[in-house]
Amino acid sequence: MNNLHNHIAIIGSGIAGLTLGCALKSFGIDAVIFERSKDISEYGAGISISRNGLKIIKQLNILDKLKLNSYKPELVSWNYRNKEFHTDTNDVFTMSRKKLIKVLYDKYISLGGKIFFEHELQNISADKKTLTFKNNDSYSIKHIAACDGIKSIIRDSYFLKNIDIKYSGFNAWRGIGKSENKNIEFHLGPRSHVVKYPVNKNLDQSFVAIIKSKNWSEESWKIEGSIENCLEDLSDYSDPIKSIFIENQKVFKWGIFVRPPLHKVYVKNITLFGDAAHSMVPFMGQGGCMAIEDAYTFALLIEKLNMSFSKAQIIYNKIRVSRNNKIQKISMQQSKLNHIGNPIIASIRNTIMKRTNIIASRTKFIWSYDVCDAVEYELKKI
Ligand SMILES: Cc1cc2nc3c(=O)[nH]c(=O)nc-3n(C[C@H](O)[C@H](O)[C@H](O)COP(=O)(O)OP(=O)(O)OC[C@H]3O[C@@H](n4cnc5c(N)ncnc54)[C@H](O)[C@@H]3O)c2cc1C
Repeated sequence: MNNLHNHIAIIGSGIAGLTLGCALKSFGIDAVIFERSKDISEYGAGISISRNGLKIIKQLNILDKLKLNSYKPELVSWNYRNKEFHTDTNDVFTMSRKKLIKVLYDKYISLGGKIFFEHELQNISADKKTLTFKNNDSYSIKHIAACDGIKSIIRDSYFLKNIDIKYSGFNAWRGIGKSENKNIEFHLGPRSHVVKYPVNKNLDQSFVAIIKSKNWSEESWKIEGSIENCLEDLSDYSDPIKSIFIENQKVFKWGIFVRPPLHKVYVKNITLFGDAAHSMVPFMGQGGCMAIEDAYTFALLIEKLNMSFSKAQIIYNKIRVSRNNKIQKISMQQSKLNHIGNPIIASIRNTIMKRTNIIASRTKFIWSYDVCDAVEYELKKI
C-alpha cells in the first residue's frame, strides 16, 4: 500500500481533473492525479469556452497562454436550410481540446503536480480511504475526487447503481478540417444541425454535426466513422459546409445518451466533478465549462474551510447541483429548438431569434456566473 494519505486523489486527467489539480496546487493543497491512459492525448475536436469558464482560467493565471492557443471569432451566424437569418457578436473563445488540455497540464506540472499514468481505477474503499488500480498498485489517500468522465465507474458504483441510460435520439459527428471561415456558424436543419468554428489563427476548423437518428452509436470519443457516412448524414447541407473536409480527414461519431440528474454528488470521502457529476447533452456547449466551475468551486471551499471536507461537500452540493441541473435542462430544451421539423414553426423560431435578443438572454445567466461570488455568498451564511 503506497502512502498518499495527505493527498486528494483525483481520478481522471480530463478538463475537470486537471482544473481541480491546478486549483488545489495553486492553493498549496496536496493533490495527485491518476489517469488510465498512457498520456494526456485528446481526440481531434474543438471546444468553445464561454466567459464563466474563462474567468476561472484567468484565476489560474493561464488565460494569456490559452488565448495564444485559441481563437476569438468576431461573429456568430445562424443559418437555416443554407441561408443566414441572424448574426450577432461573439463572446466565446474556441480552441482544439488538445490545446486546452495541454495548457491545463503544463500549469499543473509547473505547480509541482504529479500524474500517475496507466492507473485505471478498479476499486475504492471509501471508509478505509484506499484505492486499487488495475495494475495492482494501491494507495491510501485523504479524499477521492471522481473526475472520471461520462462513464464514471465511481458514479455508477456509489451514486447511480443499475440505472438505464437512455439514448437521446442524437448522434454527433466531430472532427477538425480546414476552411477560410472566421466566425462561429450554426446551421439548423430539420433533422440535424451543424456548428463550425476556427480553433486557431491558421483557421483549422472544428465541426460538430448533430444528427437525429433512431440508430444509436457508441458513447465514445474514440470511435472513428467514415467520411462517406458523415456526408450522407449531411445531405441536407450545401457544399460550403461540406468543403471543410480535408484529405485523410478523421471523423468521430459519438452517441449522445441521457442519465438522470443527481441531487447529491458526494458520499463519504468521495465527491463527483464534471461529466461524472452531470452528463450534459452538448447543445449549450457547457459541459466542459461546468467541469471547470465544479473543480474551482470545490478547491476554493476546501481552502476557505481549512480542509473541512464534510462542510465543503455540503456547500459544494448546494452550489453545483442546482446550477448543473438547470443547465442540463436548458440544454435538452435547446435540442428541441435546434431541430424543429415543421418549416412554419422553424420560420417563426428564426424570426423570434432575429427580432429579439432571446439567445443572449438564454446565455446571460450562464455566462455571467462567478464561482468566487457564489462561494462567498454561501460562506457568509455559516
Ligand atoms: C459533441 C460534443 C461537443 C461538446 N462541446 C462542448 C463545448 O463547446 N464547450 C464545453 O464546455 N463543453 C462541450 N462538451 C462537453 C465536454 O466535452 C465535456 O463536458 C468535458 O470534456 C468533461 O470533462 P471531464 O473532465 O468531466 O471528463 P473527460 O474529459 O471525459 O475526462 C475523464 C478522464 O478520466 C479518465 N478515466 C476514466 N475512467 C478512469 C478510471 N477508471 N481510472 C482512471 N482514469 C479514468 C479518462 O481517461 C479521461 O482522461 C461537448 C461534448 C460533446 C459530446
